[in-house]
Amino acid sequence: MDFLFHGLVGAIIGECAPKSIKNRRTKGALAAMSPDIANIPLYLYLGMKTDSFMWIPSAEEFYENTWVIDHWSWVLWNLSHSFLFLGLILAPIIYRSKYSNLISVAYLSHLLLDIPSHSGVWSVKPMWPIGGYSPGWFDAWAWNAEQILTYSMLPLIAWVFIKYLRDYQYIVWPSEVTKRLNNSAKSQR
Ligand SMILES: [Zn+2]
Repeated sequence: MDFLFHGLVGAIIGECAPKSIKNRRTKGALAAMSPDIANIPLYLYLGMKTDSFMWIPSAEEFYENTWVIDHWSWVLWNLSHSFLFLGLILAPIIYRSKYSNLISVAYLSHLLLDIPSHSGVWSVKPMWPIGGYSPGWFDAWAWNAEQILTYSMLPLIAWVFIKYLRDYQYIVWPSEVTKRLNNSAKSQR
C-alpha cells in the first residue's frame, strides 16, 4: 500500500488501543508506516541510476529497471517486510521494552496489507529469508497522488466510524472501565 493508507490503518489500530497509551493514534500511524523506511536506500539508489529528480524514481522507472530487485538495497526491503523479522526480532524487543505492543500490531498491519498490494517481481516474500514470493493482485506502491487520495478515503471513513464507537463507548477496554470507576489512570507509554 501507499504511506497514507498504511498511516491511516495504523491510526485506526491506535484508536482501538487502550486510551492509557499516550499518543496512541500517532504511535499506530508511525509504526504502520515504518517498514517502508527501509526503502529509502533502494529509492535513492534507483533514483541516482535513473537520474531522477531528487533521486526519487517514478513507478515507471521501477517497472523499467527490474534488475533493482537483485541489488543489496532490496534486501533491506525484504527484511523489513518479513514476518520472521517482526515475529522473532522486532516484536520480542518491543514486548520486553517499555513500549506498547500497539507498535507491533500496527507494524503487522503494514506487512499484511503489502501482501495483496505488491504483484509480479515486486511481490512480498513474507517469510524472508526462507520461502518464496506471495504473489499479490495489484501494485498499490505505484499509485499516483490522485489514486492515493482516493483509496485513502476507505480507511479514513473507517477511522471516523471507529472513533465514534470509541468516543461513545461502544468499544471499551477493561482498563478504561476501571479508569472511569476509580478516576485514576495508570499511564502506559
Ligand atoms: Zn511496505
